[in-house]
Amino acid sequence: MLEKQNIITIDGPAGVGKSTVSRMVAAATGFTYLDTGAMYRGVGLFLQDNAVDLQDQQAIGKLLQTLDLQLLPASGVSADVGVLINNRDVSLEIRTPAMSMVASDVSALAVVRDYLTSMQRSYGERGGVVAEGRDTGTVVFPAAAFKFFLDAEPEERARRRYSQLKAKGMDADVEEILAMTLLRDKNDRERDIAPLAQAEDASLIDTTDINIEKVVSLILQKVNKGL
Ligand code: C5P
Repeated sequence: MLEKQNIITIDGPAGVGKSTVSRMVAAATGFTYLDTGAMYRGVGLFLQDNAVDLQDQQAIGKLLQTLDLQLLPASGVSADVGVLINNRDVSLEIRTPAMSMVASDVSALAVVRDYLTSMQRSYGERGGVVAEGRDTGTVVFPAAAFKFFLDAEPEERARRRYSQLKAKGMDADVEEILAMTLLRDKNDRERDIAPLAQAEDASLIDTTDINIEKVVSLILQKVNKGL
């Protein structure tokens, strides 16, 4: 049997509340929060800026050798993780709905997944990490000691995303967000490599009718029992 890693993974579809929950779990446990979605967004923006052909994985691989991707820790439980690409702060640019789709497109490419999966594993090497994403329990950290999969009805997820964007002062339309959420989920669930999926040994939490605090307390109950 694999030795368990002292890592908490929190996966699930877009807009389910993973980021807020993960930041709160990290604050409560003292673990480091690893936002793997921010990494896909950063790579998406970098590839878009370089106008590379997304069919040409060899060219992408070469280009990625010139990328220095850094994460800036979130400055509180309600703030996003920041990202530097080659020392340029792209923290705001990567959070637009358009960049969500670009991230989803590039995340289907083997060359991008290999690059980011190994970077994510090196963040997790010493344990003490809350990893959030789509494949952190299935592929990145299969030996994580605590795995959770959050889900919620798409309409509820679209409403949450809408409120988040509005709170950031961004323009948003709830119907448009719902359509994009469904499209992104479909891309993420149906791709060949590391699709969005619940790990066999993950606990499923349906968050449609429960608030963030309740989700966090369900997670902490399980984690505290196992620590
Ligand atoms: O979580 P977030 O919405 O920031 O992720 C943006 C996109 O990055 C997702 O829609 C997904 O396509 C991709 N992603 C992924 N694997 C992860 C995290 C994110 O494919 N572990």
